[in-house]
Amino acid sequence: MSIQEAQVSRADFDQVMVPNYAPAGFVPVRGAGSRLWDQSGRELIDLSGGIAVNGLGHCHPKLVAALTAQANKLWHVSNVFTNEPALRLARKLTDATFAERVFFSNSGAEANEAALKLARKVASDRFGADKHEIISTLNSFHGRTVFTVNVGGQPKYSEGFGPRPAGISHVPYNDLAAMEQAISDRTCAVILEPIQGESGVLPAQQAYLEGVRALCDKYDALLIFDEVQSGMGRSGKLFAHELYGITPDVMTTAKSLGGGFPISAMLTSKAYAEHLSVGTHGTTFGGNPLACAVGEAVLDIINTPEVLNGVIEKGEYLREKLRELGEKYSLFELVRGKGLLVGAVLNQQYKGKAGALMAAAERADLLVLVAGPDVVRFAPSLVIEQVDLDEGLARFERAIKEFVAQ
Ligand SMILES: *Cc1c(COP(=O)(O)O)cnc(C)c1O
Repeated sequence: MSIQEAQVSRADFDQVMVPNYAPAGFVPVRGAGSRLWDQSGRELIDLSGGIAVNGLGHCHPKLVAALTAQANKLWHVSNVFTNEPALRLARKLTDATFAERVFFSNSGAEANEAALKLARKVASDRFGADKHEIISTLNSFHGRTVFTVNVGGQPKYSEGFGPRPAGISHVPYNDLAAMEQAISDRTCAVILEPIQGESGVLPAQQAYLEGVRALCDKYDALLIFDEVQSGMGRSGKLFAHELYGITPDVMTTAKSLGGGFPISAMLTSKAYAEHLSVGTHGTTFGGNPLACAVGEAVLDIINTPEVLNGVIEKGEYLREKLRELGEKYSLFELVRGKGLLVGAVLNQQYKGKAGALMAAAERADLLVLVAGPDVVRFAPSLVIEQVDLDEGLARFERAIKEFVAQ
């Protein structure tokens, strides 16, 4: 029997995979819209969106069409050449944002790696080697490469991996005084998530982003917004910083950009981009025709008033319903977030139990996420059907009943 024909199950994971994940007990095999089926045929409602990746749900017909059309044309050509899908997607991204130049890569971490390298290069070229310090925020998440994991503000993810890259410091999020204290002429970049995703769906305050923008201007530091999670319509704007009217110098995005196909982008101005001259940076797969063809289809769909306004409406509806459930079962301290990136913060009585509530949801045939130990996170498809959202909420109430009875 060939491997392809062999039956596999969750139990195989522990035999053949590096144990860095602890996947659920079932194996999803098929998805359509906001529904997912496992090997046994069980149907689940998906309000997790593959951690804010499946921005258009599972197997959106237009994405399937874009991917298969490109698959029959051209997959890969190397960076010795450019390609049409990459040029089209870059043109559309620059038309839709502050940016004038795009660098494509394959994951959020790689886009951030490019952004941080760009910031160091700009500072080195313009001001010399001393200007290399990067300021990030506590509890932030920027990826898992050695550089990005150390820029991220969760030490547990960077412990045990040897000497830390130098010149990185962390200050509390939404604390402008701390940022003012930390920033100096030696700072080359400040990196921020406009909405901290992984650590609890915590939006930045308006005055904070305004203040950090002014500090970066004062000290000639690049302001990098990590919109890997908050971007591509998730917040109800194409990018979350538009909600604030604060423009970064560099932006990264990934997760929803490919709707499930791996692609990320680092976007910046022409003047900064020039510092990444020929040969200074690169990637084998970044900007490949398959990924960019899908990304173009994703952007075409998401960057429309219908979809973006739908995100705002559905987000308000979801937060309202979650607040009602929270009151009915005395469960949540608050429900926060922007658009369809929503965090329900467990109150004192249930602190630390977000994982248990997520597990109860799964038993009720519903996929939700956590964002740290105290927050249940929702990142559904941006085009989720009302019936699926309502069915998801009904299942979430069943899960809550089981959870509070424990
Ligand atoms: C998920 C995420 C990343 C890392 O993306 P990968 O594709 O896993 O490398 C970086 N930044 C933020 C804000 C994220 O949410």
